[in-house]
Amino acid sequence: ARADTGASGYLTIDLAALRRNYRKLSLAVAPAAAAAVVKADAYGLGAEPVSRSLHAQGCRHFFVAQLMEAVELKPRLPNDTQLFVLNGLQPGAEESCADAGIVPVLNSLEQFRRWSLAAQKLGRVLPAVVQFDTGMSRLGVAPQERTALAAELKDCRNIEILFIMSHLACADEMDNGQNAEQLAEMHRIAAEFPDLDVCFANSGGVFLGGDYHGVLARPGIALYGGAPSAGKPNPMEPVVRLEVAVIQTRTVPAGTRIGYGGAHVASSEMRLATIAGGYADGFPRSLSGRGAVFHAGVRLPIVGRVSMDSITVDVTALPDGALSLGSLVEVFGPHQTLEDVAEAAGTISYEILTGLGRRYDRRYR
Ligand code: PLP
Repeated sequence: ARADTGASGYLTIDLAALRRNYRKLSLAVAPAAAAAVVKADAYGLGAEPVSRSLHAQGCRHFFVAQLMEAVELKPRLPNDTQLFVLNGLQPGAEESCADAGIVPVLNSLEQFRRWSLAAQKLGRVLPAVVQFDTGMSRLGVAPQERTALAAELKDCRNIEILFIMSHLACADEMDNGQNAEQLAEMHRIAAEFPDLDVCFANSGGVFLGGDYHGVLARPGIALYGGAPSAGKPNPMEPVVRLEVAVIQTRTVPAGTRIGYGGAHVASSEMRLATIAGGYADGFPRSLSGRGAVFHAGVRLPIVGRVSMDSITVDVTALPDGALSLGSLVEVFGPHQTLEDVAEAAGTISYEILTGLGRRYDRRYR
């Protein structure tokens, strides 16, 4: 394969595989439904095409992190979709949120009161989700606010709570005791709000069992082919493939310094290829001297430091002339998973995906 459009690389997104992953997750949580977390541009894969594709597969609930993301996405999706803003309601954003028909996730008593005030001003009943903190301490109504919230909710006529939710901090570790603790707290909360449905599991939570599903699960990474549970075989299908173009090939003698800081010195004659992707394209700098790309199934180690726009790889293991200007090498795909790259970089698949940037030609199939 060659770069035939002048692009520095191709990010191929397999929407059929995405939909199969959605189907698999839906079956795993049935009779609960599965929403889709499409924040950060659907983990870098394109919120609009991803959401539209999942809608065609029956998904109707979509979660983003910020109101701005929701406002942009909402008019691009069919009318029967609901968009939720996980990061909550910012002061002053009430009207634009209501006008755009977006549902805020209320993360505190203050946000609940602001939303109710906005409903009063607009003379409307506004929908909302309430998130409770069950032990992650990141976002959600704090335990000490629960009683007051329950009381105010009872008297509130202008907010319709669609469901309540919470987020698991350790769901990717199946044996982590915090999962059961958070579940027990969620049960206590559900008993305090007995009329409301629960939305709980992220990708990892889906595989913790039915207790964690509530009526609506909220997977993200598993839709995109990432592993839901650490250290376990990944049951999801890969969705993304990244191939990056060669922009230079060269043979260098022993003793040649390679890249910034001369961080790698060739111990013998080496054939090198420079490829068009760097830390601005989501290759963490921690891959310097670690990790690899592939060509024709052959592993090509990264040598020297990752630059902003390029990486140099050792192609000595390939036949002479196997790579030339415009040839493509695989960053992730059949020979190397997203998790392989994340592990080599000392990070998680989420950070790799969301960091990929805008400079690849995205191809949907
Ligand atoms: N729910 C919330 C509140 C989140 O912040 C996220 C993402 O981090 C998810 C669900 C989806 O998580 P995952 O991608 O692990 O499935």
